[in-house]
Amino acid sequence: MKKRCLNPNLVKINRNYTFEEVASVFCVHKNTVARWVRNGLNCLQDQKPYLVLGSELKSFLQRKRESKKQKCKPNELYCLRCKAPTIPAENFVEYQLISSTKGRLVGFCSRCECIVNKFVSFSSLQGYEEVFEVSKPKGLEDINDSNNPLLNSDFR
Ligand SMILES: [Zn+2]
Repeated sequence: MKKRCLNPNLVKINRNYTFEEVASVFCVHKNTVARWVRNGLNCLQDQKPYLVLGSELKSFLQRKRESKKQKCKPNELYCLRCKAPTIPAENFVEYQLISSTKGRLVGFCSRCECIVNKFVSFSSLQGYEEVFEVSKPKGLEDINDSNNPLLNSDFR
């Protein structure tokens, strides 16, 4: 998915925007803008096209950004379905290797049971092992001291 930067500073607070204009500023679909309006973005609806006040848009995006910043505590993963940090079920996560230095922790949301995951570097894995029950792929158990597990000839 394309990374979107919904930077509130791109909004000029002294002008009004049609949905199309908002969409083009932020490279999102017009329907996304309509959804923002349903989710609390104020706009002028007494005539068409509807107009979004720049100042409203800016504060809406700022609020959106703030709520996105809900930080996970070290013992939490972010659940996309609950849209909130969650503790993985039974505090159990599986470490999946992506490269020799990167991986992710995968568990199940203790609220809705959908998959939650978090990208972590191999070097920070040890820290997570103190808060989670971490299951690691075979071959990774004994080589925490190695910076390059994939180069380990025993790795297979
Ligand atoms: Zn959930």
